[in-house]
Amino acid sequence: GKIIFNGDLKSRSEVKVDIEDRGYQFGDGVYEVIRVYNGELFTEDMHLNRLIDSAKLIQMKVPFTIAEIKNRMKELIAENQLKDGIVYMQLTRGVSARTHSFPTAEVEPAFVAYTKEMPYTGKMKPGVNAVTTDDIRWLRCNIKSLNLLGNIMAKQQAVEAGCDEAIQHRDGTVTEGSSSNVSIVVDGQLKTHPATNLILNGITRQVMLKLCADHGIPYVEEAFTVEDMMAADEVLYTSTSVEVTPIINIDGQSIAAGEPGPITQRLQKLFSEEIEKQCGS
Ligand code: PLP
Repeated sequence: GKIIFNGDLKSRSEVKVDIEDRGYQFGDGVYEVIRVYNGELFTEDMHLNRLIDSAKLIQMKVPFTIAEIKNRMKELIAENQLKDGIVYMQLTRGVSARTHSFPTAEVEPAFVAYTKEMPYTGKMKPGVNAVTTDDIRWLRCNIKSLNLLGNIMAKQQAVEAGCDEAIQHRDGTVTEGSSSNVSIVVDGQLKTHPATNLILNGITRQVMLKLCADHGIPYVEEAFTVEDMMAADEVLYTSTSVEVTPIINIDGQSIAAGEPGPITQRLQKLFSEEIEKQCGS
């Protein structure tokens, strides 16, 4: 398959990362993952706006417009004949002799994008198991930064426990998953952490909240505790990869009856309809 390296379509094997790329040395950059359904980008404007926002928050310039990136992504999808999958893209502060402070203004950011297949079934997903873990990350989790050590350490804990996701909390207050947002349902109301500096404001989370608003599902953006979560009627998590997925067991304990709840199932269905509407898959 082909990839994009600084504006050009290239073969994967042609591109070598410089040992002094700041993404490689410092994790100094930002990224996005956009889902492709039926050959069409899903919610790409929201993702690309977030990429620009993330770059701005680390004072990094973006050498392309959103329209330019979008056109490049469409070329890449067509070239790789991608039907269902993702586009991964990242932008680093570029290549320059190693020193912590920013390189001089003439150093251009380095952009890489590639595609990966990911099947889409449109079917309801069965519930998954999760573990809870301390949120050890920094205080700018709203930036989709390449620095993912805290997230990696959390996910590894989940994998070692035979679970799909790690739910992070700060002093007992749930923030988000290692690569997802977490919501609970109590007495018919969905509750999810507000979009502060402590979480990444997931695009899937935003789409889900819009679906709640449009379809009369009560919701509130309010933090909840691990205790609230363990006692909730439903727990679910959302991301570009998992879409809307029920969590039915946490730390070895069943959530309610230990099966996907009605609000989660309704949101899964509404989310599939949104995909259908936007991408006609
Ligand atoms: N939170 C974190 C830490 C993530 O890494 C991700 C996605 O990878 C999300 C939330 C969900 O974001 P989105 O729905 O935009 O994929």
